[in-house]
Amino acid sequence: MGVYDDSIIPLAGSDEQRQPLPGAPRSWENADRAQAALDGAIGPEPPSPPRCPHCGLAGERRPTYTGQHVLLEPGLVLPAHLVPGGHRWHVDSNGVAWNGGSEEPLPGARCRIPHHLACPGLSLDEIRPWRWLTEVRTENAGRARRRADEESGPTALPDAG
Ligand SMILES: [Zn+2]
Repeated sequence: MGVYDDSIIPLAGSDEQRQPLPGAPRSWENADRAQAALDGAIGPEPPSPPRCPHCGLAGERRPTYTGQHVLLEPGLVLPAHLVPGGHRWHVDSNGVAWNGGSEEPLPGARCRIPHHLACPGLSLDEIRPWRWLTEVRTENAGRARRRADEESGPTALPDAG
């Protein structure tokens, strides 16, 4: 007498095979939701038209596994290694989009990008496509300021105003 273990879920081999099993926990849901928020994969939700709220251009709206929607740049499929991590979107054969996160893409992999990344209505400062690089630059700016302060500190004349 044993309990039949039906909890083994086969691993998907490729993007095309990655399908949610009915009722099965979807391990990527939380990551997808967080990533969606980070990447601006926040609609517009139906029944609103699939138009970018920043520039008015139409995008390719796809549902995600969290039930949110992402507006993909229409017709653009890129080598994944050219796209910043966190912005690499894939569309399964069932039409559902998912974010590849910051994992290094497989050699030769291709992906979609959110319209957000190519939107003419947003500045690079607003898009921040390379977030890790922004953090490094911010850290370096602080280091450079401290270094300049140390070098000029004791001999600098006070600001007479
Ligand atoms: Zn736009």
